[in-house]
Amino acid sequence: MEPSEGNTLDNEALLRRHGMQVTAQRLAVLRAVSDRPHSTADDICSVVRGEIGAISRQAVYDALAALSERGLVRRIQPAGSPARYEDRVGDNHHHLICRACGGMVDVDCAVGDTPCLTAADDSGYEVDEAEVIYWGRCPECVATSIATS
Ligand SMILES: [Zn+2]
Ligand SMILES: [Zn+2]
Repeated sequence: MEPSEGNTLDNEALLRRHGMQVTAQRLAVLRAVSDRPHSTADDICSVVRGEIGAISRQAVYDALAALSERGLVRRIQPAGSPARYEDRVGDNHHHLICRACGGMVDVDCAVGDTPCLTAADDSGYEVDEAEVIYWGRCPECVATSIATS
């Protein structure tokens, strides 16, 4: 079986398990998110268009919103940058973001538990996730700046 076929079946089952209707648009959006983790909605839009043809930007946004609401995809909102989406959910991992090129990679949770950070004062909130973003420069951008200076 082609790997992509297996993926489609898995994703269909995933949608059903979360009580969501299976549509070609949702499947294409899910596939785009898992093929290209940390993509923006616009990136996902062009991938999906390349795959299933005409789909409105709004339909992609709606699919992403529905998928993140049900916990099938995770939405990361870095300060000053568009939201990114990924299908690695439920493990409370964190992210490294390059200030220069916007590159983004996963970092495992600092401790391995969800959440790995205990707030000094949780003000009575029931905390279930700690979103940590480490900002800096990726190795490529560091190398480029050394080469050009
Ligand atoms: Zn970079
Ligand atoms: Zn991630």
